[in-house]
Amino acid sequence: MVSEAVSEPERQCIGCGRRGPQSGFVRLTLDQEVLPGRVVVASGKERKGRGAYLCRRKACLDRALHRRAFQRAFRTQVTVAEEEIAAALDIVDDV
Ligand SMILES: [Zn+2]
Repeated sequence: MVSEAVSEPERQCIGCGRRGPQSGFVRLTLDQEVLPGRVVVASGKERKGRGAYLCRRKACLDRALHRRAFQRAFRTQVTVAEEEIAAALDIVDDV
């Protein structure tokens, strides 16, 4: 028998597909006050709307951009606040 005890929700990076606890990711959200929507870093406790998660690695941001993973995650045409997101990644130069 398998019983799953879920304490912390698991998130998945839209860049590389890695899964893990939310604390390891940057949360992104869609700013819908502009058209097309703009993917920005979720600030604080916004709970509404769809979110997406990205590892704290520039490589994952690049990969997500390449794969158009943002459009897929938010199911719409979006633009991406690349610089803002990159700045939020606390980039460490791991490979
Ligand atoms: Zn990743």
